[in-house]
Amino acid sequence: MRTTTAREAASAILVRRRDDSLEVLLVRRDPSASFLPGLTAFPGGAVDDGDRAASASAPDPADAAARRAAMRELFEETGLVAGAADHEDAAAAARDAWLDHRNDEAAALLATRGMRLHPDRGRPAGRWITPEYSPIRFDTRFYLVEARHDEGWPEPSLVGHELDKVAWWRPSDALAAWGRAEHLIGPPAVIALRALARCENDPEPDLDAAARAMRETRGADGRQSQRWEVVPGVFAMPFRTPTLPPATHTNAYVLGSGSGAVLVEPATPFEDEQDRMVDWLAELRDGGVEVREMWLTHHHPDHVGGATALARRLGLPLRAHRVTVDRLRGTVACNGTIEPDEVVELDGPHPVRVRAFFTPGHAPGHLCYFEERSGALLAGDMVASIGTILVAPGDGDMALYLESLRAMGRLGPTVLLPAHGFPVGDPHQKLEGYVAHRLMRERKVLDALDRASSRGTRDATYADLLPIAYEDTPKAVWPLAALSLQSHLLKLQHDGRASRHGDAWRLTASSA
Ligand SMILES: [Zn+2]
Repeated sequence: MRTTTAREAASAILVRRRDDSLEVLLVRRDPSASFLPGLTAFPGGAVDDGDRAASASAPDPADAAARRAAMRELFEETGLVAGAADHEDAAAAARDAWLDHRNDEAAALLATRGMRLHPDRGRPAGRWITPEYSPIRFDTRFYLVEARHDEGWPEPSLVGHELDKVAWWRPSDALAAWGRAEHLIGPPAVIALRALARCENDPEPDLDAAARAMRETRGADGRQSQRWEVVPGVFAMPFRTPTLPPATHTNAYVLGSGSGAVLVEPATPFEDEQDRMVDWLAELRDGGVEVREMWLTHHHPDHVGGATALARRLGLPLRAHRVTVDRLRGTVACNGTIEPDEVVELDGPHPVRVRAFFTPGHAPGHLCYFEERSGALLAGDMVASIGTILVAPGDGDMALYLESLRAMGRLGPTVLLPAHGFPVGDPHQKLEGYVAHRLMRERKVLDALDRASSRGTRDATYADLLPIAYEDTPKAVWPLAALSLQSHLLKLQHDGRASRHGDAWRLTASSA
């Protein structure tokens, strides 16, 4: 498997004491960012050449460069540096200089006004390597840093467009908001917030102990945890599958936090990835989460490729919508069906209540799974955050697909968990955007029919319509676009706006 090297990076977990409680600074990545969009995290970024040059003679140059990067990124992203409260103009000028890579000038501006980045201050608070499945990877060192009351720290302010929110949080409040799926937090931040929440009300919080707890997040064998809890009681992990490019993986999800959990999307047909899935489930089981059943979202090969092998290997029953069960007859044996609106309650430290939600349109037996407590909606192939969703004649139905997208919106989900790509933190915008995009395409298909018929010679073939209706897309995707075009034409026929004559199409009289 081809993987990208993880770039060295660093992140500052900045805390302060306020009103008898500990607070921690969190930023939110812009929802349109390419890496972990919409994720709430600690400020941070890649170690740069300036950080390395300034740290070359340190006893541990890599650690020193990472400490400097953590505090520099904190300053660049949020304007926070000790001593800046009384020197706002100089601090702003230094920030501009630094963002412009005029490093010496920035350092001089900070030094003349007594502002200090304090790179030596942070307590090592763990290291996290983005797993191999991610197209962009970082090897991030975390440092726990206290912003002391008497040091003149300013209020945070964002510049640039990578981040769209910054705020001080009580750690327990940040975790509670995560529990309501009001924001998404990555695994290292969940670990750090849990460590901080344990001491947030102590008169003298033991930050050394908190940092130690953050460092000791690896399993007994020293490997990084594979546990990514997207919201409490919902775990995610991507596995490589032969799927529609640019996607390369299908996400598996485990629902439940106790002994009766469910695995959704046993998708990978590759043995090495199935081994990885078995390891993942073993780690979850060590944490008290035991999978007892597998569910499918729909019958496509990149969603069921591991179902038979994993059912046998793990001894787990498999269920799906009855149409999916029928479609798979002879290839994948299911043990039972899931009825639309069937509700399953799963006990555990974080009880979950899951409703099967019937969403035909991409595939005729497609089920989404709605976790009603957090509002997380496992979206299968109804939406994707990597790649697009194909609605092809045969399995697909454009009118049903649009109706299912609208029905998903009416559920009021707080987060969409697609089969391909990152979680979607703004479900309303995503679902509306998907509907709007398909309706825009329908207008272009109508326009193409109109232009073809106004030439008056003959009805329009697919070859006539495709270059007009999809003129804004690269030719490389036209073979797939041709399938979408057929789905749009079938919907227009169903709506009474277009009619078919052999292989050619025309607008109906009322539409023309
Ligand atoms: Zn599919």
